[in-house]
Order: sequence, then C-alpha cells, then structure tokens
Amino acid sequence: MNTQDYISREDKYGAHNYHPLPVVLERGEGVFVWDVEGNKYYDFLSAYSAVNQGHCHPKIINALTEQAKKLTLTSRAFYNNVLGEYEEFATKYFGYDKLLPMNSGAEADETAIKLCRKWAYEKKGIKNNEAKIVVCENNFHGRTITIISMSTDPDSYKGFGPYTPGFVTVPYNDLASLEKAFSDENVAGFLVEPIQGEAGVYVPDDNYLKKAYEMCKEKNILFIADEVQTGIARTGKMLACDHENVRPDILILGKAISGGVFPVSAVLADDEIMLCIKPGEHGSTFGGNPIAAKVAMAALEVIKEEKLEENSEKLGKIFRDGLRKIDSKMISLVRGKGLLNAVVIKPQNGKEAWDVCVALKENGLLAKPTHNHIIRFAPPLVITEEQIKDSIKIIEKTLKQFS
Ligand code: PLP
Repeated sequence: MNTQDYISREDKYGAHNYHPLPVVLERGEGVFVWDVEGNKYYDFLSAYSAVNQGHCHPKIINALTEQAKKLTLTSRAFYNNVLGEYEEFATKYFGYDKLLPMNSGAEADETAIKLCRKWAYEKKGIKNNEAKIVVCENNFHGRTITIISMSTDPDSYKGFGPYTPGFVTVPYNDLASLEKAFSDENVAGFLVEPIQGEAGVYVPDDNYLKKAYEMCKEKNILFIADEVQTGIARTGKMLACDHENVRPDILILGKAISGGVFPVSAVLADDEIMLCIKPGEHGSTFGGNPIAAKVAMAALEVIKEEKLEENSEKLGKIFRDGLRKIDSKMISLVRGKGLLNAVVIKPQNGKEAWDVCVALKENGLLAKPTHNHIIRFAPPLVITEEQIKDSIKIIEKTLKQFS
C-alpha cells in the first residue's frame, strides 16, 4: 500500500472529523518520524505537545512494556500497587496535596469544573446550581458538550447545542474585564490557559496571570490553570504559570505527562478543594490504571533527567530569533515561549498557511496550521541546537519557494 491507499482507506471507513496533512506515518524516534514510503521528517507538532520527551523514548516505552506484562487495569473498584506510588511521586513533583487521575485532557478539564462547582457549594457558600466559572474568549479546553459550551469558536460549538450553562466569557489578557466579571458573587472559578495554544499560541502580557491570580485571591475565586498543552516543560519552565510564580489552585495536566505514550491526564489540588469530591461522585474506568501510572512517572523523570526545561527555554529563543531573521513577506509575526511557537502567515498569491505546511512536508518538516493563517511550531523538547538550526533552514527555504 502507498500513501494514497492509506489515506483513501481512512477516508472511506473513518469519520471525517479531522483534516490531516497528506502524510502517513509509521515510525518515530526522538524528533523524527518516518512515513510509509520511508521519508524522514522533523516533527514540529509533537502530537499537539504530547510528545515533549521525543517519540518512543526508551525509558518511557520500557515502563509501558514492563507494566503491561504484569497488570494493565483493575478499575478503581480495587487498589493497585502502582497508583499510590504515582500519586505520591506526582504530588511531590508539582507540590500539591492530592492528584485525581483521568485519561484525556478534556476529561481533566471536566474534572476541574466539577471540583470547582462542588467547592463553590460546600466551601464558598454559593447557592446550589448557581456557581459560575469565568473563561476566556478563544479558549480551547477540549471537545465535550460542557467544554464546547465555553467555546467562542463556531467550529467547536455550532450545531451541538443545547449548551451547558454556568460560564461567563471575558476577553483573554484583559484584566479590566476580568475584574468586572469577578464582581458577581456567584463566580467560583477562573479557568485559563497560561498561553492559548490552539487559538494560535497567544502569549498574554507579562504579569497577566499574576494579577489575575491576585484578583482571584481577593474574591475567593479558584484560579484554575489548563496546562494540558503548556505544561511539562513546553514553554521553558515545568509549568507556564511558573514564569510568573503563580501556583494554580487547581492544575490541569495531560498530553506530555505521558510523553505521548499513553492517554494520561491529571488534576492536582490541595485537600481543601480535592476532598470536596467523595467516593462515587466522580471517576473513570481507565483513570489511574497501573500502566498510565508507570508511564507518567517515567515521562516526568525524563523531563528532569534530560533538563528539558532548560533546553526548551534556550532553543526556543534561538528558534524565534532565527525565524525573525528570515526575509519573507509571508511572515507577519513570530511569537511564543520556550518551544511553543507560532508564525502568523500573510497569504501571498492565494497561498496560505496550509500550502506552506504542505511545502514544509515536501522539505522534510511537519507542522500544522491552526485557524487558517497561523502555523504552530512545537518540536519535541529533546531537539538539539544543530537540529533547530537545520529546521530554521528548512523553513526559510520553504518560504522562499513562495516569493
Ligand atoms: N486543554 C488544552 C489547553 C488543550 O490544548 C487540549 C488539546 O489540545 C485539551 C485541553 C484537550 O485535550 P484532549 O485532546 O486530550 O482531550
């Protein structure tokens, strides 16, 4: 079978809920992936920042396979001998009292919303069913009905109503609007992405998170950080909130907490919040399974052992500097933090971000447009300086083809 055969088969038998680049991958190692024709590419998407530790990291794969031979799933009806070890490890790693394990990012966001509402009724004293959570315009927190109810992107919400109530939307990076929204006494939480990844890598002003956090403290509102995409060293610190020394009341993690090896997500909080949820009130058959627990511990160890925070911070600067030096009319803006970066593309002669990504693929680098005119560049954090410089050359050569 060739590339087109694989694509046609997916097209025929799979739901059409994605629009992938026309490349069929069969192998990955570190920063590279190979397609079914044997072509090699730099992966500059990293499965939407899930593969921060690089494809098929040997330590993480070993954790997976060793545990898979012993015990895969018990459900939470019984204890398993690994979950507690992981919970202790991860709570100490991130500095919280407790962890609630789930699988996908969306589930972890849903968990955080439930936790916040329960806390609102049990601790803050908001009348039953009246709690509100403030969210930001252009947010992306996943695809469930409740989550798309918070979305301002018609592609996400249109045609899927009726929607879940209880959310108030404010512009991102706008403290005055936030203050106004916080004057409502029924506000229990503020759910925010420290950098809006899916929206196109929007980096808020310095101090936005810090000030928003202080406003939350003043009003007894929970600061809930969705670090599913920005967390685990992606932006040059373990958490993007660390750039402003903000410690979220509820921390939502997913994606790279497993190195992209297995679906693992988590919500972290202190007892005052986490213990509002009692046995039987929340859960997941697969959440906290022993494979996930072993994989997550290995993935988190790799981040520290290989100093990936430092690498992300250092190479991110080199990458942005390199892109800014490229002489191309198509680049209207370069932005990002660490190795979460984006280029805003100005169409030339009818050619858009999609066409640039197809050409990048031909030149050996995979990236994906978001919102038609933005290309996100987020390689695995194990990338070297030499590879980053090589990648900048590929991007430059590609953009030159359009001039
Ligand atoms: N939250 C953020 C910030 C994300 O970027 C994403 C996915 O891109 C999600 C949540 C949803 O994660 P998942 O696709 O694992 O449900």
